[in-house]
Amino acid sequence: MKAPVRVAVTGAAGQIGYALLFRIASGEMLGKDQPVILQLLELPIDKAQAALRGVMMELEDCAFPLLAGMVGTDDPEVAFKDADVALLVGARPRGPGMERKDLLLENAKIFTAQGAALNKVASRDVKVLVVGNPANTNAYIAMKSAPDLDPKNFTAMLRLDHNRALSQLANRAGVAVGEIEKLVVWGNHSPTMYPDYRFATVGGASLKDRIGDDDWNANEFIPKVGKRGAAIIEARGLSSAASAANAAIDHVRDWVLGSEGKWVTMGIPSDGSYGIPEGVIFGFPVTTENGRYTLVRDLPIDDFSRTAIDKTLAELEEERSGVAHLLG
Ligand code: NDP
Repeated sequence: MKAPVRVAVTGAAGQIGYALLFRIASGEMLGKDQPVILQLLELPIDKAQAALRGVMMELEDCAFPLLAGMVGTDDPEVAFKDADVALLVGARPRGPGMERKDLLLENAKIFTAQGAALNKVASRDVKVLVVGNPANTNAYIAMKSAPDLDPKNFTAMLRLDHNRALSQLANRAGVAVGEIEKLVVWGNHSPTMYPDYRFATVGGASLKDRIGDDDWNANEFIPKVGKRGAAIIEARGLSSAASAANAAIDHVRDWVLGSEGKWVTMGIPSDGSYGIPEGVIFGFPVTTENGRYTLVRDLPIDDFSRTAIDKTLAELEEERSGVAHLLG
């Protein structure tokens, strides 16, 4: 039997947490032969801690053979102790009348503290995925607050946008999602992200040639992927928790176990490629192997794509400048 992997999850009693934890414990994220210890963080308020206890009772009642231990806590240094994987899901939602700027600052406090705690107690190889919004900027703040950890270990979730785009493309082209490769989603996990299928293939042939409709791309596809979260809230009355949890599982699984040469989208700190300033956490195409990701380089960027990439970058730069004073 393999040694257990420690997986920390914040916001563990929330909607996404509820759709995520049972799948991690059943082996869907790290493999059906990989025991896990769940280290669950919730807010230090009675309601959140009680809800967390309830979720832990349900996890116990599943009697998952791979669940080798569980900790529930309100202390980030307990949750992140020796963590190998950290899923930062909990974030402050926008309250009534709250400005975007205030939301950024509230979350900056949370992610500064969590970055510092990771820096202090997590495994030196911890793989961090930020799901809580604004995910890219929260990941940037956590990364900057953890100077002793490799910045490459801080990532943000663009995989939901990637998966949403895949399904829309598969429907349009009349092919199975699994047949599509080489899709990219550039930028921020927000409606400004740019899903780009210029390089995508189906069975080795160009998907763009098959779809062949630039108008559909600009006026239907891109807006539909960008507004999908809002459409789900409108339809369900609740946000998209199960698909977000599924995307988090996909992201970490591919990062840890490898993508077998396939391109996937991850929000990673830029190395300056594609004109994205160094350090900005941006959605890029990567391949993954042996627990590491490698940027897909030297893709041609045409005028339409440059404009779309610059737009999502401008939003990220604005978010970053809104929190710069907190990061020294
Ligand atoms: P959810 O579990 O639904 O969402 C958690 C976070 O994920 C939110 O920031 C949400 O953003 C974000 N998210 C990213 N992508 C998506 C997506 N596609 N669909 C939906 N959400 C997405 O929120 P809940 O309020 O149910 O749960 C949050 C939990 O976190 C609560 O239990 C709370 O107590 C806890 N919390 C913990 C903190 C901590 O551990 N320090 C700090 C703050 C909260 P968006 O808001 O934009 O939908």
